[in-house]
Amino acid sequence: MGSLPPQRRQAGGPGGGPGGRAGRTNLSPKEGAEEAERRLGKPCFHAGQKVQGTYACVACQFQIRNRGTLPTCPDCGEIVWAYMESGPRPVPEGEQAGAPRPAPAQAPTATVEEGVSLQPPGVTVTEGVKLQP
Ligand SMILES: [Zn+2]
Repeated sequence: MGSLPPQRRQAGGPGGGPGGRAGRTNLSPKEGAEEAERRLGKPCFHAGQKVQGTYACVACQFQIRNRGTLPTCPDCGEIVWAYMESGPRPVPEGEQAGAPRPAPAQAPTATVEEGVSLQPPGVTVTEGVKLQP
């Protein structure tokens, strides 16, 4: 395990944007992943979710090949990862895509914004995804 400070950032890195967001660090991991997804246009997940595939740290672009539970970024400590492969959005183990199912712990009323497609109903869950190229 490294001893790098968790807040290290690359100056002028992609996705940084010119200011205006300072101090907004009270997002939950889930909210952070959702925000990164909107910003990057890629499916994003956070540490602790069980998803497979190739992911890149949204903060420093460090890439990992994940097979189990997403870690925090070993390079910078970021917890949000962007899914880098093409194809269907991976569904974290233990979660369901598009299945109507009461989720009292989460947002009780989801606001559907136009142009934002999170998980359309009827998403096909592909099981046994091959990892080999
Ligand atoms: Zn990182």
